[in-house]
Amino acid sequence: MSTTLTKKTNSALVEEFVSDLKKKNPGENEFHQAVQEVAESVLPFIEENPKYKIAKIFERMTVPDRIVIFRVCWEDDNGVAQVNRGYRIQFNNAIGPYKGGLRFHPSVNLGTFKFLGFEQVFKNSLTTLPMGGAKGGSDFDPKGKTDNEVMRFCQAFMTELYRHIGADVDVPAGDIGVGSREVSYMFGQYKRINNHFTGVLTGKGINFGGSLIRTEATGYGCVYFVEEMLNHRGDSIKGKTCVVSGSGNVAQYTVEKVLSLGGKVVTLSDSSGFIYDPSGVTLEKLEFVKELKDVRRGRISEYAEKFGVEFFPNQGPWSIRCDIAFPSATQNEIVEEDARQLVKNGCIAVGEGANMPTTIEGISIFSGAKVLFGPSKAANAGGVAISGLEMSQNSMRLRWTREEVEEKLKTIMKDIHNQCVEHGTDGDYVDYVKGANIAGFIKVADTMLAYGII
Ligand code: NDP
Repeated sequence: MSTTLTKKTNSALVEEFVSDLKKKNPGENEFHQAVQEVAESVLPFIEENPKYKIAKIFERMTVPDRIVIFRVCWEDDNGVAQVNRGYRIQFNNAIGPYKGGLRFHPSVNLGTFKFLGFEQVFKNSLTTLPMGGAKGGSDFDPKGKTDNEVMRFCQAFMTELYRHIGADVDVPAGDIGVGSREVSYMFGQYKRINNHFTGVLTGKGINFGGSLIRTEATGYGCVYFVEEMLNHRGDSIKGKTCVVSGSGNVAQYTVEKVLSLGGKVVTLSDSSGFIYDPSGVTLEKLEFVKELKDVRRGRISEYAEKFGVEFFPNQGPWSIRCDIAFPSATQNEIVEEDARQLVKNGCIAVGEGANMPTTIEGISIFSGAKVLFGPSKAANAGGVAISGLEMSQNSMRLRWTREEVEEKLKTIMKDIHNQCVEHGTDGDYVDYVKGANIAGFIKVADTMLAYGII
């Protein structure tokens, strides 16, 4: 009886909070979703710890410190003027300089960046490194643009963004549509304008301050996290069949690490569909994917043509039987029906390489079936963690070896897993969503309390 009453009170609390948030941030659906997912774990915790309630810490954490929106004008190869929007959402710098990637994709809007920035605050807190949370980017679409057009866009974008960032202020990195090419153009322009050679961006080239393993870190880290979840249950990735979505940075290095731990990957995708390779993606085939996606910027259907496997247009890979799912493309790619299908097919673990790839309904299907579910803010934190280490190396003017950085990545992912277990264990099941949300919240919230009302 009392449990039912508490549950009702908790869901009423969440409903009230989210309904107020929706009124104040109309039309920002992804932001509403991200806050609701965190509120479901954090608001009951706050009820038990009134110091956070009195100081309205969670209310404060859902309002960004500031939002910068700006015009980006550039000229295409035909001499035609083009206009895009640039964004930087500096969400919270309680525990360190703002840190978070830049996304270039035509679908983005203010709500996308607010959801990503909000998530980043919790994720960065979980890494154990001193980093606040931010996110930004543009509705610019790099697809189909020449290198020169991408360069002119990146330079125009940085010509405004440089005012708002700095090595001790805000340190952007890559995300969807922003890889080493874009980071290099932006860093070059920042340096030209400012005449400062500082660690103002991460994901830089190795010759100019980049960290070894940064490129691999998000995918590798996600696989390490899933291995930790399985080890905690006395199991491992070895011999498991994995379904991976996406074929960009996160997907590629997820595949690489799954293979090195003895697992098998049977799918890859992009925004046009997925390939199913029942005999498994090998390292050799992965090299083809890297060249296809990073150099030629082609479509994943070419994999199917090259290796004689099936291509399924306009759908995600979630109907394929697997033990482990690694959604590594974009937000909300696993909806309720996909989650049901995965559970029905025997999926035992999910590692979210992408940010918020599973809907709230999908998450409850997984937790209802006791699937090990590694939420993005924990599972994909390896990327930003190594970005944090890139900042340290830049400040110290040195470079750690590949082995040193990978060892640190493993330790950080283990530590994030332990924090989730500490705050999310319920009987014999670890609720990693709850664990990650509460652990991420406590560090930022306690720091905000220490600062007083600001
Ligand atoms: P990339 O741009 O390298 O690759 C993105 C991949 O996802 C591509 O295969 C792309 O297909 C596919 N994709 C993008 N949008 C959609 C869509 N709307 N529907 C279906 N497929 C889509 O990006 P990353 O690999 O860097 O990022 C992937 C995810 O991981 C994102 O959610 C990102 O926020 C997250 N992430 C990335 C980190 C990093 O270090 N890079 C760190 C933490 C999280 P196509 O080629 O057709 O566009």
